[in-house]
Amino acid sequence: MTPRPSPAGQPDVLVVGGGIGGLGAAFALSRRGLAVRVLERAPEFGEVGAGLQIAPNCTRILAEYGLLDEARALGVVPENMVMRDALDARELTRLDLADLERRYGFPYLVIHRSDLHGILLRACERAGVELLTDHTVTGYENTDAGALVRLADGTAQEAPLVVAADGLHSVARRDLIGDAVVSSDYVAYRAAVPIERVRDHGVAERDVTVYVGPRCHFVQYALRGGEMFNQVAVFESPKALAGRDDWGTPDELDAAFEGTCDTVRRGIPLMWRDRWWQMLDRDPVETWVHGRIALLGDAAHPPLQYMAQGAIMAIEDGWTLARHHARQAEAAPEGAAPDWDAVVAAYEAVRVEHCRRVQTTARAWGELWHLDGEDRLRRNAIMRERDPYDYAFTDWVYGPTALTPEEEPPMFTPVPLASAHLGDERDAAGLPT
Ligand SMILES: Cc1cc2nc3c(=O)[nH]c(=O)nc-3n(C[C@H](O)[C@H](O)[C@H](O)COP(=O)(O)OP(=O)(O)OC[C@H]3O[C@@H](n4cnc5c(N)ncnc54)[C@H](O)[C@@H]3O)c2cc1C
Repeated sequence: MTPRPSPAGQPDVLVVGGGIGGLGAAFALSRRGLAVRVLERAPEFGEVGAGLQIAPNCTRILAEYGLLDEARALGVVPENMVMRDALDARELTRLDLADLERRYGFPYLVIHRSDLHGILLRACERAGVELLTDHTVTGYENTDAGALVRLADGTAQEAPLVVAADGLHSVARRDLIGDAVVSSDYVAYRAAVPIERVRDHGVAERDVTVYVGPRCHFVQYALRGGEMFNQVAVFESPKALAGRDDWGTPDELDAAFEGTCDTVRRGIPLMWRDRWWQMLDRDPVETWVHGRIALLGDAAHPPLQYMAQGAIMAIEDGWTLARHHARQAEAAPEGAAPDWDAVVAAYEAVRVEHCRRVQTTARAWGELWHLDGEDRLRRNAIMRERDPYDYAFTDWVYGPTALTPEEEPPMFTPVPLASAHLGDERDAAGLPT
């Protein structure tokens, strides 16, 4: 559908924030023939950071949008996802990503953030989305005909629907919910370097490798057709635990990984040291829709990144909104506007619970990855016993995005640490059995 011109310059939808979530929603809604305007506070559209993992629940949507071939060309389809112990480098479990693609019908991709953002930006441009930079939104209000946003320059803009995709520190979230971010006391360092710089580090260039260790983990995978290598180093900050404001500094990075295996330690000097990301999330909330203002992406459900689903959930949000717009348009009498209240109610009805599950599982995953002592051995024993072709832990998230609460698949059943058989693990760790 071609977007129709907006009456008197007013769009059908205002999207605040031009990150992956905002652009994904803008593109999805513009495919419905809606006039969409994106308001971004930065002087230009862009993404900071390095790699992103995008699982089949996202590549399925990119395929529907006609964007998967471009994503494949710019990214890498790894062969395996391998989890190793960060201290002794032993393999704990793996996913065969070719088999995973057969199961879910779509690939597991890794891609540079700026490449995925660029794909969505170009798609928005082609679709006629109005993309405005240097527009900082300072407030939100519902009106008789929809909602309006107030801008830092003193002006206001109105539309039948306002989507607040303004990220973790969302102004909309502050005004409408007023909760605080939650600090995990963990911090992430990132790096994307030419592949030649790690060729003698013993890295697996064709895999996503996650090393999990006491109070730290380390992720590695190739990017940009294999020309670059992405690394993420995450650790618990002693300064954060001590209540200091200046936490997560590079001296802490070096200390956190001192006792890890050779491949991890060799990766640490390559991390960018001028910027780090404190790992913050928020407690899940049940209401994302306030009149005609709908929260989306990190503004609605910022996760800790352990499930690698934050950007994916944001893209799923936009797809879901557009699908419900289509359903309402079909139900509306000929020529009548779809019922936006019903659209946002259906969006909230299904997305809140799914994202709550991802947010809470991400927190639990973090605890599991960072175990020490005997619990580390228990975790290792359980992971090593897992059948690599058992998809009970991924079906609930990598399958098709649910449109209604009834379509949401059941969660996996957690395996209690206490059920682990420790014999082999104690042997491997040189402990008495
Ligand atoms: C270390 C790390 C690794 C991660 N790895 C993965 C991964 O592998 N896979 C995955 O899916 N996710 C991952 N994530 C999560 C993912 O990056 C985020 O969930 C996702 O980028 C959120 O997108 P968003 O568009 O909702 O928010 P943002 O990316 O924060 O975008 C918000 C946008 O709104 C703009 N904005 C903010 N305030 C205003 C305002 N007042 N007015 C106008 N504009 C405004 C900002 O400038 C920005 O452009 C990771 C996160 C981290 C920290």
